[in-house]
Amino acid sequence: AALLSVEDIQVRYGDLVALRGVSLSVAEGEVVCIIGPNGAGKSTALAAVAGGVVPHAGDVRLAGRSILGERPERIARLGVSLVPEGRHVFGTLTVAENLAIGGHLRGDRAAARADRERILSLLPRLGERLHGPAGRLSGGEQQMLAVARAVMTRPRLLLVDEPSLGLAPKIIDQIYEILLDLRREAALTLLINEQSSNRILRHADRIYVMRGGRIQLEGRAADLRDGE
Ligand code: ADP
Ligand code: ADP
Repeated sequence: AALLSVEDIQVRYGDLVALRGVSLSVAEGEVVCIIGPNGAGKSTALAAVAGGVVPHAGDVRLAGRSILGERPERIARLGVSLVPEGRHVFGTLTVAENLAIGGHLRGDRAAARADRERILSLLPRLGERLHGPAGRLSGGEQQMLAVARAVMTRPRLLLVDEPSLGLAPKIIDQIYEILLDLRREAALTLLINEQSSNRILRHADRIYVMRGGRIQLEGRAADLRDGE
């Protein structure tokens, strides 16, 4: 059964129709990418799942249950975490403090501490800079910290908006290796937006190609890779 099921949703911003009947599903444990150019509707699709926008038609289901119209805080508590575009870390706080913010949302301090150790073992660069300001990290490291902070909340479904934006190919591969490690270690399911399929097909299980507020193509990444 699908962990996430988006069913024929439509979203308008005033007169602008951003999503024109978008359906997609993500199975438990899957890594799915939505690929499309700027303005395609990718961020809107993630926002519709996280509760930041409410579709005026269609449905959004988490583990079979409709979450349409639920408040973002409620959806977060049901296990959905969104990493917005743009490496949102608190630059003047330390790496440890940034992680603690994610852990704090959990309540369970012992579990949060164990998660932190697990995340730092996957991300030794963050461990080395644990007590330095997050603003001093490189762009790629800040992106990883933003992801790590979200993982500290122990989501079932992690939504990541354009983690590769502006990063070098080698760093993009590293970010995906970390995401795939986290999937295994933290039993995560991932839905990720990207502008280009370049380098993504080798990391994702499945992709949707979106353009003009519609899904144009869906396929297993391995099949699409063979066609390259
Ligand atoms: P993408 O993430 O693929 O770049 P978006 O979902 O951000 O696409 O945007 C889809 C369309 O909706 C674009 O035309 C964008 O300008 C518009 N849009 C996005 N957010 C808003 C908003 N808050 N208000 C008005 N228009 C918006
Ligand atoms: P993305 O490509 O990730 O959607 P954008 O630069 O399009 O990023 O959007 C950045 C922010 O501005 C988002 O919160 C989006 O909802 C909002 N936004 C985008 N387009 C518009 C618009 N035409 N009018 C108002 N807000 C917009």
